[in-house]
Amino acid sequence: MGRIVGHYAPRLLLGIVATLVVLTLVPAAADLVPWPASLALLTGAVLLGVSLVAHNRRLCERCIAALPLDASMVASRYRVRFRVAHLFESRLFVLGYLIVLTGSALLSASPLGRYLWAAVEASLGYLLLVYVTHQRLQPWCPYCRNGGEEQRAPTTPSPVSTHI
Ligand SMILES: [Zn+2]
Ligand SMILES: [Zn+2]
Repeated sequence: MGRIVGHYAPRLLLGIVATLVVLTLVPAAADLVPWPASLALLTGAVLLGVSLVAHNRRLCERCIAALPLDASMVASRYRVRFRVAHLFESRLFVLGYLIVLTGSALLSASPLGRYLWAAVEASLGYLLLVYVTHQRLQPWCPYCRNGGEEQRAPTTPSPVSTHI
C-alpha cells in the first residue's frame, strides 16, 4: 500500500506544489483557504515525502512497467534533468539552495518577494520532476557511473569500484 502511494507521491506532491504557487500568487485565493486545509496540505506533503523515500528503497514493478521501450532515447532528452540531479550531490549547492529557499520564504510577505517565493516553489516542483526522471532512468544517466551508485566525488573518475 505504502509503495503504491510512494509510486504516485511525486505526482501528488506536484499537485500540492502547484496549489501552493497559486495560493502565493493570488493572495485572495489564500484568504479563501481555511487554515485547517493548509495544515492538511502540509501534512499530506510530509507524508508523501516519507512514502517517496520508502518507495525508492525497493524495486517497484510499476516503475519497471512504466519504463519506455526506447528508454535510452528518452533519457538523452533529459540531460539537463540528470545534470541538475547531480548538482545536489554537492553540499555547497544544497546549502545555497536552502539559503535561497529560506530567504525567499522570509520575503514572501512583501509584494515583490511573493513572486520570488512563487518561483522558488515552482523550482521545487521542477526538482520533483528531476528526482523522478533520475530515479526511473538512472541506468541511462550519463553522470552516474558504475551503473547507478551515486558518486561521492564526481570531480575525478575513480578506478573500478568494488561496492555494489
Ligand atoms: Zn514505482
Ligand atoms: Zn545520475
